[in-house]
Amino acid sequence: MAKNSADVVVIGGGPAGAVSAYLLAKQGHSVVLLERDEFPRFHIGESMLPYMMGLFDRIGLREALESRGFVPKFGGEFIDPTEKKFFSGVFRADFAKQGEGRFDRAFQVERARFDAMLVEEAAAAGAEVHLGTGVKDLLMEGDRIVGVSYEKDGEEREVRATYVIDASGRSGRIANKFGLRKTLEKLRMVGVFRHYEGLDETHNLGAEGDIQVGAHDDGWVWAIPISKEVISVGTVMPRDVFRAGTPEQVFDEHLNRVPRITARLTGTRPSMDLKIETDYCYHADTVTGPGWVMVGDAGCFGDPMFSGGVLVATATATRAAETIGAALNDPADADRLIGEYSNYFKTGYDTYIRLIHAFYDGELVSVAADAGRTTSRDALERYLIRLIGGDFWSEHNAVAQEMRRRPEWDTFAPFQRVFGCPSYPQLDEHDRKERAEARILRVTNGQ
Ligand SMILES: Cc1cc2nc3c(=O)[nH]c(=O)nc-3n(C[C@H](O)[C@H](O)[C@H](O)COP(=O)(O)OP(=O)(O)OC[C@H]3O[C@@H](n4cnc5c(N)ncnc54)[C@H](O)[C@@H]3O)c2cc1C
Repeated sequence: MAKNSADVVVIGGGPAGAVSAYLLAKQGHSVVLLERDEFPRFHIGESMLPYMMGLFDRIGLREALESRGFVPKFGGEFIDPTEKKFFSGVFRADFAKQGEGRFDRAFQVERARFDAMLVEEAAAAGAEVHLGTGVKDLLMEGDRIVGVSYEKDGEEREVRATYVIDASGRSGRIANKFGLRKTLEKLRMVGVFRHYEGLDETHNLGAEGDIQVGAHDDGWVWAIPISKEVISVGTVMPRDVFRAGTPEQVFDEHLNRVPRITARLTGTRPSMDLKIETDYCYHADTVTGPGWVMVGDAGCFGDPMFSGGVLVATATATRAAETIGAALNDPADADRLIGEYSNYFKTGYDTYIRLIHAFYDGELVSVAADAGRTTSRDALERYLIRLIGGDFWSEHNAVAQEMRRRPEWDTFAPFQRVFGCPSYPQLDEHDRKERAEARILRVTNGQ
């Protein structure tokens, strides 16, 4: 059984919950993490972004990640025969082109192993981790959440805490209790996916380890190698397209529209039944409250296009842990700190979801062209690849700046942006100067 009280209770042991528990425990706070499932367990979300390497390096988890034999990913291949949604028929975002000081790779992971690794790190840092322990309810005193009740081995117990972090992902324990969740109406997508075994990367027409994303008229297809032998393949489409046939028919038909992916599957066979995920695009305008904060998918999720989910989940978890750590040390400043966290959360998700809207609206190329009016050609390529690599919180990315000008892509009610790259905060001054110089080069040389 968990102890009866702690500084912080974390609901959920996915990447967001594990990282916030790990960081708060490292700061010396008492933390109880309650995870409903026994680990290891399947979870979707297998392709990581290079900005996660910078984040994991900063918080002390990079070596653990690198030591597990996950598949290195040096870029993303975006396929679009119509050339309307991406920059050419086959466009490769090469992470080596992000500019200096940034990791040139990320990893593709089997989430069962990745998530288990993170909760082990949280426990090793001193957090009390309880698997197979579902949170049943939130304990309230007036309008403040003061703990949770949970069930373990058929018995119901309580644990009280100064702060509760909701990292319960799509089940959104707090959002659902208070009715805070809103559907992103423009993004009502369905994902249908499965793993294939017998992978042989010599059939890959692109670069080994890369994710492939293939766009077609009714959605898109992903291919993510998660080990030397296994590749994850998924199809994403609007709900009405999904309803037009059986999942098997729609999956096969969409997959066959992307010959570069079917070529990579030569000699493979399915190793699991098809899985289906729906209604995963939502947000909440209130992501913090008295005694609580949301992190990761518990507060918001856009769409798997661009593979940013785990990055935004772990980046918000990191900021939440830093915020709650500071609030525990200085309770008089807690309201200001938590208000700032709320705006930080929204700043990153808002930018990521703009990138997704730009893809679905067929505006990615035109946004990049508009950004090119205020920056040199070389810098434009860097900004684009950085954004695809996870540059969601920088104030100085020209392409992100351009996307933030489009009101039709607003996700949240108006809020004050709080910038600050969670992965490379040390590069902020460099990036500010680079942006100013690129602007001058564009004007003086027409570059
Ligand atoms: C089709 C699809 C494809 C995706 N592909 C990618 C990708 O390639 N790359 C990427 O980065 N992201 C991807 N994502 C997104 C990614 O899966 C999530 O963004 C990420 O897992 C969020 O992490 P989290 O910790 O916030 O939530 P989760 O990983 O969902 O963790 C939440 C945890 O809370 C636990 N929990 C829930 N309720 C309770 C409760 N009451 N008590 C205790 N525990 C509870 C759950 O068991 C779970 O372990 C994809 C998403 C979808 C839908």
